[in-house]
Amino acid sequence: MALSSFFGSSKKLATVNTTPEEKLFLEPDTLQLYMAVAGQLPRLTKLPPQCDMHEWLATNSLSFFNHVNVQVGAISALCSCGSMTAGKETFEWLEDKKGKKLTKTPAKQFIDTSLSQIHKQLEDETIFPTKFGLEFPPEFGAVVKKIFRTYFAILAHIYYHHFKSMLRLSLHEGLNTLFLHLVYFVQEFSLMEQRELQCLDELISKLCEIDKEYTKNPPKVETDGLLSAAQSKIETKQKSNSLAAESKT
Ligand SMILES: [Zn+2]
Repeated sequence: MALSSFFGSSKKLATVNTTPEEKLFLEPDTLQLYMAVAGQLPRLTKLPPQCDMHEWLATNSLSFFNHVNVQVGAISALCSCGSMTAGKETFEWLEDKKGKKLTKTPAKQFIDTSLSQIHKQLEDETIFPTKFGLEFPPEFGAVVKKIFRTYFAILAHIYYHHFKSMLRLSLHEGLNTLFLHLVYFVQEFSLMEQRELQCLDELISKLCEIDKEYTKNPPKVETDGLLSAAQSKIETKQKSNSLAAESKT
């Protein structure tokens, strides 16, 4: 896949409308994955031999928390969305202290509250035990499912409402890679229903296709290669410029 940056053309960006319906994240130029892990995500997702399933789910709950937090940090100051949506999908499962479902929560509040609740759970030794001898509780599976549903909702909100900012910051490759890894993970361990992934099903199939291509033909990540490719691009441009100048004279 070409390494062309979507921001190669600022003119193109200026005319792009980022209303949710536009689905800017499906533009071919934005469908990029980190070369270093592309094609390896299914392998990185699977339960390693000898590893306890609960431990693996716990480790990944924490690891995805850190990665989702990085993405949130990029858009947090920009998010003034009135509700927690992703296109036509609305996520409403936050509860107040009395257990009453909250509705029409602004997206930023939904994200901040959810992440701080998850952080508390991850630190709670009765849910995520780290000390020898402590066991995982019976509700562990349900807790993990809710955590991953929340991660998905947050990334879906970013895709639908803040993708233009992610492009501006050149963070789309990281977002795509994290998202695809999350999708592989929730599918591998049946943490989400297929219908819950529906709002991003087009993106999922496109990224899976790209990743499968990488699996068949692993990319060579060589700095020298990239530099010489960039160099030859510059030389080609210089050549065509001088040809154009000659044809004018
Ligand atoms: Zn928002």
